[in-house]
Amino acid sequence: MLENTIKACLECNQPIRGRSDKRFCDDACRNSYNNRQNSDQTNLIRQINHTLRKNRRMLQEALGEEGMLKVNREKLLKQGFDIKYHTHTFANVKGQTYYFIYEYGYLLLENDLLLIVKREPK
Ligand SMILES: [Zn+2]
Repeated sequence: MLENTIKACLECNQPIRGRSDKRFCDDACRNSYNNRQNSDQTNLIRQINHTLRKNRRMLQEALGEEGMLKVNREKLLKQGFDIKYHTHTFANVKGQTYYFIYEYGYLLLENDLLLIVKREPK
């Protein structure tokens, strides 16, 4: 058994006394560690949600009342569209992959074009 192994507190890095499965020296250290982890996660989620909403709004505004529309990809990217983030994908029978941001999606076409479509969730 390694009962005597000295572990460092994840928060303050001080050696921990007592049970070998402890990760923090006390409640205060555990709380501040967990709070920081949670706020980092919250910030990450908030940031991605913001990007998804912005992407969705840009597709929505570009598409307007059209059923589908071709736009220049570079132009969309210059306006701040973040191509890294989407909510899901859809492959049609031809094996083409549409990237969706909620109900708005796009297909990458030749000549640096994007085909924007709208598809209500079933
Ligand atoms: Zn500590």
